[in-house]
Amino acid sequence: MLIRLLKQFFQTILRNKGQVLSISITLLASILVIGFTWWYRSRLSLSVVAAETSPTLSAVTAPVSLDGLATMTIATPAANGIARQAQPHTVLPARPRFEITQYVVQAGDTVFGIAQKFDLNPQTILWGNYYTLIDDPHQLRPGQTLNILPVDGVYYQWHALDNLNKVASFFGVKPEDILDFPGNHIDKNAITDIAHPPIKDGAWIIVPGGVREMISWSGGAISRTNPAAAKIFGPGFCGQVMTGAVGTGSFIWPTIEHWVSGFDFEPAINHMAIDIAGQLGNAIYAADSGVVVYSGWNNYGYGNVIVIDHGNGWQTLYAHQSQLRAGCGQSVYKGDVIGNVGSTGNSSGPHLHFEMILNGARQNPHQFLPPP
Ligand SMILES: [Zn+2]
Repeated sequence: MLIRLLKQFFQTILRNKGQVLSISITLLASILVIGFTWWYRSRLSLSVVAAETSPTLSAVTAPVSLDGLATMTIATPAANGIARQAQPHTVLPARPRFEITQYVVQAGDTVFGIAQKFDLNPQTILWGNYYTLIDDPHQLRPGQTLNILPVDGVYYQWHALDNLNKVASFFGVKPEDILDFPGNHIDKNAITDIAHPPIKDGAWIIVPGGVREMISWSGGAISRTNPAAAKIFGPGFCGQVMTGAVGTGSFIWPTIEHWVSGFDFEPAINHMAIDIAGQLGNAIYAADSGVVVYSGWNNYGYGNVIVIDHGNGWQTLYAHQSQLRAGCGQSVYKGDVIGNVGSTGNSSGPHLHFEMILNGARQNPHQFLPPP
């Protein structure tokens, strides 16, 4: 019975050779297609997993519009809890930007870091946010919204009586640099007098390539002949102080620690001082002999401040003190204790913000202090 069935089967195959061949080919092709699909799908899901665990990768490769880019690339690492160091490079496109971008300061941000992120000079971060940072990198706080200029320069609020020639010259640029900048949206056809272009009172304009002096709010360079001029810095100003100790011209470190814990001397971000490490309450010493010409609170974030005039062109300044131990007009000698390390004013922890001023210009303390 079985043999008969088998015989019939093979006879059928032999009779329909062509059909069998085509069925075999179809079967083989189907197996190949199913196999390939399975292999490809397994690869695809692997790459999806890889992309999900690597937000840096997805942030860089995701298609984005020019306007949303800054916000998006910044928001992505935060949303995924990835350390900011994961994106050390600039991810903005090479295409020129013309408009202001807003950026919310994250914990751990620095003026240098934000500048690098947007491919700008650090000064541009300060010059774009005068009312937020008042030229002081100590003012940077998480949660602040900063203006990010599209190019290096200054962000300036126009006043009704301004003269464009004077504004341009103040920032070291040509009037056309401001008028022609697309982000300023100035209707050039409506200009009858270049000195008074149609810019609304109170409008903010971008000054591409503009530069200006930084402002010091710490109150350095207070002379012993007129210390009352420091009244603008806060209630620590002194009255008339005429005579007293004179410096030796050489300096000692003003605390027991001899290393920088916060900002170093960085003219690019207007930190014309060094933040010396210290524990709360550590003694602060007069770096050289002189007369105290400021002793008390500073209204601009420097907390309790002492300024010593050394009578030879030099002044030294000691900020964020927890306690002041020398008063107005007092002569102090090199090494005397004048206060204690603290974190008063705009400070993120105990340290001594120390400035050295020579004939009104703040100097790099590393060049005048002994080796650490
Ligand atoms: Zn400082």
